[in-house]
Amino acid sequence: MTAVTITPLNDNTNGWSRILPPRQPKPALDRDLVVDWVVVGAGQVGLAAARRLAENRPGDSIALVEAGTAGEGAQGRNAGFIIDSPHNVGSSLGELSAARDYVTLARTAIASLEEQVRKYDIQCDWDPVGKLHTAVSPLGIKEILEPTRKVLDALKEPYTWLEGKALHERIGFKHFSTGIYTPGSVLVNPAALSRGLADNLPTNVTFYENTPVTEAQFSPEIRLTTPHGTIRAGKLIIAVSVFAGQFGVLRNRLIPLSACGSLTRQLTEEEQSRLEGSRSWGLTPANAFVGATVRRTRDQRILIRQDMRYWPQLRRDSASYKPISEHHQELFDHWFPALKGVTIENTWSGYICISRNDGAGFGEVAPDVYTAVCDNGLGWTKGTISGLLIADKASGTDNPLIATYEAIGQPSRLPPRPFLDVGVSARFSWELWRHRREA
Ligand SMILES: Cc1cc2nc3c(=O)[nH]c(=O)nc-3n(C[C@H](O)[C@H](O)[C@H](O)COP(=O)(O)OP(=O)(O)OC[C@H]3O[C@@H](n4cnc5c(N)ncnc54)[C@H](O)[C@@H]3O)c2cc1C
Repeated sequence: MTAVTITPLNDNTNGWSRILPPRQPKPALDRDLVVDWVVVGAGQVGLAAARRLAENRPGDSIALVEAGTAGEGAQGRNAGFIIDSPHNVGSSLGELSAARDYVTLARTAIASLEEQVRKYDIQCDWDPVGKLHTAVSPLGIKEILEPTRKVLDALKEPYTWLEGKALHERIGFKHFSTGIYTPGSVLVNPAALSRGLADNLPTNVTFYENTPVTEAQFSPEIRLTTPHGTIRAGKLIIAVSVFAGQFGVLRNRLIPLSACGSLTRQLTEEEQSRLEGSRSWGLTPANAFVGATVRRTRDQRILIRQDMRYWPQLRRDSASYKPISEHHQELFDHWFPALKGVTIENTWSGYICISRNDGAGFGEVAPDVYTAVCDNGLGWTKGTISGLLIADKASGTDNPLIATYEAIGQPSRLPPRPFLDVGVSARFSWELWRHRREA
């Protein structure tokens, strides 16, 4: 029996859900349960896994348990980029086959998400507007954008290289010097999409919200403890991202990061007319640790995502948001002087799970116990596809993409804390200093 000592806390700061209508969560588990399958975690991975299991095994009973509520974990706190193109590439073409595989996996995930958005008419501002990958400095262009261009050329993927005025006319502000536009990515309100996916699960999935798992036993039988009931299941899928170590899974292999986002209030018609550029766009920075992700959303707000940090404590004091919000406001005022007086309405944070070698935690970790975690910050595409594929693997359903996903490899072992803390902090400081002009 493993005691889960840290469970997620919802600090009610998520700006994406605050701009949505109120939603009634599904009831928490309040009795003992025996099911064929239990999936823990209703992020991109857990939602995709529960749906695919239900499709593969229509006669089976499936419980999906979530510590918080739909769209309030990282799945609803991200920047809302559903990214189909390789944009974190190395400096050579050696990763080409991995890049090609990524595109295949990502597009399969996007097709699955789009099918559900259409089928259930999910109102999430689904916006197939593509995305920009942008740099400020010559170093960012040389080390990230130029290798990315070579990979796109080799993959024969369409893109547009934009410099100076051409880029500024597209986005309406001048901070970034160069960008690569790729047309296949989709932008969404991530909380709205997560809620929509959770509220339209197949009938043989029962979704329990506000139901944290506090103890997990894998043998001689699978048994989970929650505050008001236990769950005994034939098979278990653990889809809890950075919390996997709490279940005794992939300990010393996952690196938890905290990233922060802010949304301004909605721009008035008059303010929108003062802002040049397209009415909806999104850009990701050359260096994700240092630079900012920025969006003009379909509903006419500006999003800024920055301040990524190593965050092993998995808890954040609400007072820590004030300096981040002030920093995002300063960036906004500096970048969009024509919008003087527009204020940031909400600032929040969420967790990203990465590994040292970009490996993904995917597979059977004990008899009848499976996990899919660690998408290295690409939750909408890698998280969704890993959820679909872990369900196929666990239910014995053939899918050639399982081998493609497994080829990514497992997360490599990390040094124990406090050596890990020192190492990751040193690496962050180096990245921040070396790419300081990308900030
Ligand atoms: C600010 C920010 C910006 C980002 N931008 C993007 C982006 O633009 N595009 C993109 O693709 N990705 C982005 N990401 C990353 C993305 O959000 C994550 O990679 C993704 O959400 C991970 O999905 P998941 O299903 O593995 O985990 P999560 O979405 O974190 O879901 C795991 C769930 O498990 C639940 N859980 C944990 N422990 C327990 C327990 N004991 N009992 C029950 N439930 C439990 C949690 O409450 C949580 O809801 C961003 C992340 C952040 C924080």
